[in-house]
Amino acid sequence: VQAVFRSNLSHLLDLMGSGKESLIFMKKRTKRLTAQWVLAAQRLAQKLGATWRDQKQILVHIGFLTEESGDVFSPRVLKGGPLGEMVQWADILAALYVLGHGLRVTVSLKELQSNLGVPPGRGSCPLTIPLPFDLIYTDYHGLQQMKQHMGLSFKKYRCRIRVIDTFGTEPAYNHEEYATLHGYRTNWGYWNLSPKQFMTMFPHTPDNSFMGFVSEELNETEKQLIKGGKASNMAVVYGKEASIWKFQGKEKFLGILNKYMEIHGTVYYESQRPPEVPAFVKNHGLLPQPEFQQLLRKAKLFIGFGFPYEGPAPLEAIANGCIFLQSRFSPPHSSLNHEFFRGKPTSREVFSQHPYAENFIGKPHVWTVDYNNSEEFEAAIKAIMTTQVDPYLPYEYTCEGMLERIHAYIQHQDFCTAPGPAPPGAHAPQSPFVLAPNATHLEWAHNASLTPGAWPPVNSLRAWLAVPGRACTDTCLDHGLICEPSFFPFLNSQDAFLKLQVPCDSTESEMNHLYPAFAQPGQECYLQKEPLLFSCAGSNTKYRRLCPCRDFRKGQVALCQGCL
Ligand code: UDP
Repeated sequence: VQAVFRSNLSHLLDLMGSGKESLIFMKKRTKRLTAQWVLAAQRLAQKLGATWRDQKQILVHIGFLTEESGDVFSPRVLKGGPLGEMVQWADILAALYVLGHGLRVTVSLKELQSNLGVPPGRGSCPLTIPLPFDLIYTDYHGLQQMKQHMGLSFKKYRCRIRVIDTFGTEPAYNHEEYATLHGYRTNWGYWNLSPKQFMTMFPHTPDNSFMGFVSEELNETEKQLIKGGKASNMAVVYGKEASIWKFQGKEKFLGILNKYMEIHGTVYYESQRPPEVPAFVKNHGLLPQPEFQQLLRKAKLFIGFGFPYEGPAPLEAIANGCIFLQSRFSPPHSSLNHEFFRGKPTSREVFSQHPYAENFIGKPHVWTVDYNNSEEFEAAIKAIMTTQVDPYLPYEYTCEGMLERIHAYIQHQDFCTAPGPAPPGAHAPQSPFVLAPNATHLEWAHNASLTPGAWPPVNSLRAWLAVPGRACTDTCLDHGLICEPSFFPFLNSQDAFLKLQVPCDSTESEMNHLYPAFAQPGQECYLQKEPLLFSCAGSNTKYRRLCPCRDFRKGQVALCQGCL
């Protein structure tokens, strides 16, 4: 069946159920954004023209909202607790619905069981039940519940699952045996899924799929109005919980900020001002989302104090014409040195409070400075007050961008059929690549045949040999490209090293998330033995990694030029 774009979202609101504060928050958001979704669908429909879109039957099981996993978030919706996850789930539901797919939503174990056809009261069903869904979107909590209650069908249908995973899961943590042997074991990882089945909130690592969310868009008139109405001395502080106001050197740089600007906060409080928030701060308390947006429209500066990490609010601030000022982390924060990231299945190093804002948006919208250096901090405040910026929202965070991306994933990502042409290993057939004329990297050979249906299409591949100690994520970015892990199998051969003129004395095939790679001392070339371990992330000074990169669409890093 062909999927048809939907323009009336009222049935979706019914599907979302009711009762919980979290669901109320999500439904309000969906209602408010309806007009934007509908407009975006019209634009995408025009862009795609006559492209056939399969209608899928989709189950969305939001595990963290189930009582069975404790539902710690719902009671905190009105108390300054994290809202980013709810923003994202609301937008995922809206996108799937607007794209025209068949949708079921579950937020309890009972509903999950009944939708999966597991007889009620049975802990788990040992039989393989035919699954009535083509796709299941869930989270780590939901994944655990499905494993417990689907019996054998979990194994059979795991390739249909997509895991919404805010901070991402790196391949080394996902592969059970490897994680256990090499100290990558955490509370979350080792599901042996294809790493692309994990979908993140920001494009943290190309090893996972970037799902994202949306931020409200302004039309030209609104943009002009906002630009005219900015108070150049008004700052809003990022964070809803009082605890973010406790940090080192607070007096000093709040003092500096207060010298130039009027400081506003949206910190949740019960009956009186939270003691952490100084008296000179105008605290509005936790605001409903639309009122928070209104506050951002007036403000010049949105300022982060180091926590929370990587949430939606800075994008909303920038979309509403604020400049976002944040601290640089030196040394970077990661699961190795910071409580918040400890136990998360990633070694990613976070160099500022919001790396996406720093790396994908940057100046003049985003200023990342060293807060320990008062002169640098003060100079930034002064400069920001006189810097004019336009409201800005990256395309991938617009409704159209999110629809386009999810459309592409749904139509093209397939983790159920066995992967690609070249089986990994030393005896793989000749790779379809040639050395580029300037001898720096490999390119697609024009006379090589394209595997029909392979996605992303392989002719977008550019393969580079990294310098020692550099990860593939960074190596590709160095060349204005993005790492594409699904291309690793094409490079995992002696032939690829040969074509790159790498002088391998010997070649071995082993399990290591840094392979394929070349080890300089010893001139040894290593190939990857375990396809699940192909990883853009990871580096070691011992190795020069062989990196598959591809191009990407401007403002839509998840998709290559030929990906739609
Ligand atoms: N937000 C809100 N009221 C406020 C402050 C923020 O509704 O007073 C919303 C904001 O619009 C954003 C969401 O909270 O969409 C989550 O923002 P944040 O970046 O703080 O991420 P979190 O840490 O909550 O996941």
